[in-house]
Amino acid sequence: MSKFVPFAHAKSLYEIDPEFFKSNGVTTLFVDLDNTLDSYKCHSPSDNAKELIKKLKEAGLDAVIISNNRYKRVLPYAKELGVDFMSSTGKPFPRKINKYVLEKGLNKENIMVVGDQLMTDTLAGNRAKIRVVLTEKIVKEDQPTTHFNRIFDRPIRKHLRKKGLLVDWKDKYGTR
Ligand SMILES: [Mg+2]
Repeated sequence: MSKFVPFAHAKSLYEIDPEFFKSNGVTTLFVDLDNTLDSYKCHSPSDNAKELIKKLKEAGLDAVIISNNRYKRVLPYAKELGVDFMSSTGKPFPRKINKYVLEKGLNKENIMVVGDQLMTDTLAGNRAKIRVVLTEKIVKEDQPTTHFNRIFDRPIRKHLRKKGLLVDWKDKYGTR
């Protein structure tokens, strides 16, 4: 079960104060796209997403999109947002994430993964040994391919919550 335990939980990335990341030594966020930043139906970034990235940049935080979705979905979105990206990332497998970290010379202690799914985002982050912030989905609708993951996500999430293993981000300032 421990591989599903996130470092922290948030209702959404949009509610998190950038100071939370900074107090934890983070300089780079690996952010999931669909249902973390925007609906999978949003082909270009919402104003909210644009404002968020601007706010993070002003706080000195880089965002990199890590999406399991295809290149042709992720590229135009990331380009318009002005951020780097990985597409077909292959979460829950950490291979592509590890490769990116190595290529860019990043330190995993300075990264956090943020995503709405236990079966992909949380698992990939934990396997890569990168801290994870698990969020709730921002819109109701999921891509059809995600429905299967939710069948597992729901009861595990419920279990983690019951065990007190979903700690709110506000209680996780400055852990290092
Ligand atoms: Mg997602």
